[in-house]
Amino acid sequence: MLYWSVDDESLPIGTEDLLDDALVALIPLAQFHGWRMHLEGDVTREQVANMREYQEAWVALRPDIYSMVDITYRNALPTESATHPRTAVLAYSGGVDSTHAAVTGASVHRGRRALEITRGVLIAGFDIGLDDTASIARAHGSAQHILNKLEIPLVVVSTNWREDFSPNYTMSFGLGLAAVLHQFRATFDAGLIATDATYATEVGAWGRDSTINRMSGSRAFPFPTIGATASRRDKITAISHIDVVREHLRVCWQPNARGANCGHCGKCVRTKLGFAASGYPATAALGSTSPEEVASVALSMWDRIFLEDMLVNPGELDAGLLTAIRQRISISALPSTHDSTQGRI
Ligand SMILES: [Zn+2]
Repeated sequence: MLYWSVDDESLPIGTEDLLDDALVALIPLAQFHGWRMHLEGDVTREQVANMREYQEAWVALRPDIYSMVDITYRNALPTESATHPRTAVLAYSGGVDSTHAAVTGASVHRGRRALEITRGVLIAGFDIGLDDTASIARAHGSAQHILNKLEIPLVVVSTNWREDFSPNYTMSFGLGLAAVLHQFRATFDAGLIATDATYATEVGAWGRDSTINRMSGSRAFPFPTIGATASRRDKITAISHIDVVREHLRVCWQPNARGANCGHCGKCVRTKLGFAASGYPATAALGSTSPEEVASVALSMWDRIFLEDMLVNPGELDAGLLTAIRQRISISALPSTHDSTQGRI
């Protein structure tokens, strides 16, 4: 059985008979197996429409994995959306994207009113497994330090969604995050999931982007996009002046990170470069890097995009690190950002 449990019993969770959360949570699994989905409860009509569009998008992206499935339910309710959203609950991992969202969120404007982030949610069972309680506690402690400084209360939600209901996690985790945030719709007006990439560098077949954000909710509980106009380089610049961020930022997904940062993977190294470019060559959270490390680090597509961005906007990086970045890019087998975005519009 799919479950969500929250560590703060004073905060009401759950959506009673409204099953938008179940719809969002289970569509990737149904699409993967080709199962029709029946919900023994009500849904928001707009949420159903958005999940049909989501299905169409993934069938277009990965027809080898996903198929269209029928969705049935008890009643489809009209979407009520008379007011502008004013409070938001933020999915908070303690990394660059969500910390940037937390730092800049108070100035995000939708319509004429600011959208205030009034709660952060750390999810146990996504990048850290539910049985690794020591790593979860460590990640929780780091996230708590940063959000305390920003005066945003944090709760932890534990769920088996990734373990038991997500056949392709990297393609579907945005909906998993959204399904968790749907649990809080009785208390907050909107959910926020910070994007990884900018509008210009978004790529297909990745589980979290501005389009998936929009489909993850409805006007009754929207998911406004946040962070898609700032590069990762911009985001680090915007958060690096905060002391607890330099001490407690957690970016690493490596199995040996144990709720902190391994310090040496592509994600850790690029973040160290970002801090160095912002005038902080060594941080408590990640340490420092060297030309030798940069020149030999394994690169993902995202790391490569970041390194190219650093050459355009090097900030306070020294000549040795810049030379190492050029060397590393020159031997990368990945296409350049320019090549990979051509023809997408
Ligand atoms: Zn790492």
